[in-house]
Amino acid sequence: MSVMRKALLWASTNAWIRENAMRTGFVRRSVSKFMPGEAIEDAVQAAKALQPTQVNTILTRLGENISHIEEADEVCDHYLKVIDLITAAGIDSQISVKPTQLGYDQDFEVCVKHCLRLIDRCEETKTFFWLDMEGSPYVDGTIALFKRLRERTPNIGIAIQAYLFRTEKDIEELVALGSAIRMVKGAYLEPPDIAFPEKADVDENYFKICARLLQDDNTKPGALTHIATHDPVLQDRLMKVVADRKVSTDRYEFAMLFGITTARQKELAAQGQRTRCLISYGEFWFPWYMRRLAERPANVWFVVRNMFKG
Ligand SMILES: Cc1cc2nc3c(=O)[nH]c(=O)nc-3n(C[C@H](O)[C@H](O)[C@H](O)COP(=O)(O)OP(=O)(O)OC[C@H]3O[C@@H](n4cnc5c(N)ncnc54)[C@H](O)[C@@H]3O)c2cc1C
Repeated sequence: MSVMRKALLWASTNAWIRENAMRTGFVRRSVSKFMPGEAIEDAVQAAKALQPTQVNTILTRLGENISHIEEADEVCDHYLKVIDLITAAGIDSQISVKPTQLGYDQDFEVCVKHCLRLIDRCEETKTFFWLDMEGSPYVDGTIALFKRLRERTPNIGIAIQAYLFRTEKDIEELVALGSAIRMVKGAYLEPPDIAFPEKADVDENYFKICARLLQDDNTKPGALTHIATHDPVLQDRLMKVVADRKVSTDRYEFAMLFGITTARQKELAAQGQRTRCLISYGEFWFPWYMRRLAERPANVWFVVRNMFKG
């Protein structure tokens, strides 16, 4: 892992840097590349604008690790409003939440209760509920949460990270249940005893696990694979797997982030590949933005250029 990536991921967790950076004009300007705005209305507008290109969306409010359990009520109410806005806008959009936004750190049962409220509303409005995956201390708990919620409905998905050694085994348990799985490489700073330190190994594990998810036995109700990467080599390799095995298009979707490889998102959708763009919004964007910078150090030069734009 590069020094720059390590430094940015470290900065993502530093409160002093966060407080100061969030007030700085050039940082705020740079963030707009990856985020249409801080308000939910900005995200819905961006989702509407993408709809004619056949790129569907997922909406997520930035923020993680709330400090008081009462804050989870506000987050839950907010997502209920998001589901209503999606319905009113008539867009094919879904929601994605972080367990620690909904009280996971304070009270697991309260977190479950909030998730169930959201899941029920998603069910009523025919939208879909995703659980993001956070850093490694949360993996066991997030999978346990998913399993609990999966008892209620198949209308729920979970992000799983290819950089973790444990993932190959976790996947088998999830496949047995019939699960919607968003395969990502993983965005956090993890130690080498639990995660592949080399990017090439992460990439290869990503391919291996997605190829496994695209096998014929992964067709229980609720099964879906999100190929959530911007990596064109992996996308092409997996499209070949799909073509060779004649995997039906309702079994997988491509998923990417707002503002990253936008042309590719539209290109895949135009080719008839089901494609989704995850749009983030909200005021608490600093740790998330640092993770986006860490993924591509060239982004740091974009921030530096903005510094001189005044
Ligand atoms: C829909 C979606 C949901 C996600 N949810 C989670 C989650 O719940 N938990 C989690 O840990 N991670 C999540 N991630 C982030 C993920 O783990 C990776 O950190 C991120 O997607 C970058 O990895 P990559 O697969 O795109 O491949 P990389 O090898 O990092 O990138 C491949 C290529 O994509 C482009 N690219 C990638 N990132 C950027 C960037 N920031 N700026 C500009 N270009 C870029 C570059 O051209 C790069 O060469 C999510 C990603 C997506 C797409």
